Amino acid sequence: MNAMSVADRGVSNLHDRNRTPLLRRMYYRMKPMIPWAVRMELRRSHARRLLRRFAASWPIDPAAGHTPAGWPGWPQGKQFALVLTHDVEGPRGLEQCARLAELEIRIGFRSSFNFVPEGVYTTPDALRASLEEQGFEIGVHDLHHDGSLYRSRAAFRFQARRINHYLAAWGAVGFRSGFMFHNLHWLKELDITYDTSTFDTDPFEPQPDGVRTIFPFWVTRADGSGYVELPYTLPQDGTLFLLLRHTNIAVWKRKLDWLAARGGLALVNVHPDYLAFDNRPSACTYPVALYEAFLEHVASRYGNRCWHTQARDVATYVATRRSRRAAAALAVEAAG
Ligand SMILES: [Zn+2]
Repeated sequence: MNAMSVADRGVSNLHDRNRTPLLRRMYYRMKPMIPWAVRMELRRSHARRLLRRFAASWPIDPAAGHTPAGWPGWPQGKQFALVLTHDVEGPRGLEQCARLAELEIRIGFRSSFNFVPEGVYTTPDALRASLEEQGFEIGVHDLHHDGSLYRSRAAFRFQARRINHYLAAWGAVGFRSGFMFHNLHWLKELDITYDTSTFDTDPFEPQPDGVRTIFPFWVTRADGSGYVELPYTLPQDGTLFLLLRHTNIAVWKRKLDWLAARGGLALVNVHPDYLAFDNRPSACTYPVALYEAFLEHVASRYGNRCWHTQARDVATYVATRRSRRAAAALAVEAAG
């Protein structure tokens, strides 16, 4: 049993759950024809039922907080790690990236921006370059973001080739699927250092099976290589502020304290599309002041105790530790 054996659990839990159910397929086909407000109202009434049903495991699933055996701890003795990610869903999000980056720089943070390569917008090269120059990371978010990526094994394989093309072209090493669909086996076909399409607990997602850990873990490919899975562990902004209509960050604070106490990975996904920079929210946006307050809270409460870094750094750290452990094990075998 080693630190990374949780990977195999994660994989087997998720294995073969990706035959897209008929109802879900119909939903994504019909989705463009259903007005946003109607879709949101349907989701809200469903969410109220889920809140009651999963009160014991969301936002905190106590079972997800166990430190895996052999976990090496964070670099420089840091208590926990914090990673900020952004999925850019549409033109509105694209427009707001630079402003969001400015806000983070002002408070002393850097995040990763995940762009959809062949979706409803084109990501300007200049935007990617300027974000990278300022210390932000670029990742790939799905391919078309239309719910088709996991439609079948063949569909995934076909789209994976295009995704790998964009990973190389953008110099990106991280991936996240649209709608957080995930199959850790299929994802082995991507040329990635990490994936971040899973979560410790999130019953509100269309594929709601969580990996039930707040620690990164290793997924091995057949050839012995692999990638690191980075589950998101703080509720997504859309879930809290649009779906559940929270007007404060109490849930983020509570979960952050719990993650910090257990020394796990605090990873959040905030969508630039949903931010109201004038702090006058609409049905599909929330005040940017909430995200700002979260960043200020982390900085003032945890400061240097928190390893705030890019997703790729956490993945590299975990991958390196893993290969060192493997090498040490080999040396012992050779000596014996
Ligand atoms: Zn998305």
